[in-house]
Amino acid sequence: MGSQAVFGGRARALEHVPVQARQNGRVGYEYVVIAVSFGLATGFIGRGKGGSFWLWFLIGTILPVAGLIAVILHRNEDTEPERTCPACGKTQKLYVQVCTRCGTELYLPDRADVRHPSTP
Ligand SMILES: [Zn+2]
Repeated sequence: MGSQAVFGGRARALEHVPVQARQNGRVGYEYVVIAVSFGLATGFIGRGKGGSFWLWFLIGTILPVAGLIAVILHRNEDTEPERTCPACGKTQKLYVQVCTRCGTELYLPDRADVRHPSTP
């Protein structure tokens, strides 16, 4: 009777190990789920801001929290004010300092030249 109690105690101790291992495995799986969820959220926000869904999905999955913050702070390419290059006429975002077509240095233009695509 006494030895059975000892065996029972040992069995319980052995049972404890696989439970720990299973919990560790589940934590890893949960991390993947969280990372992919962040990736999806980051991707959708990135796409909504005129960027590439897959690029932001990748960033959000690799850097779950930082990627999401980055995409929230990211400039919205669709609403960013634009102006036209005085040298070649190419439409540029207002934050572009050198024309990507002709290389002309772009200074802050007159307010009349700034277009806001989001406002009709
Ligand atoms: Zn230009």
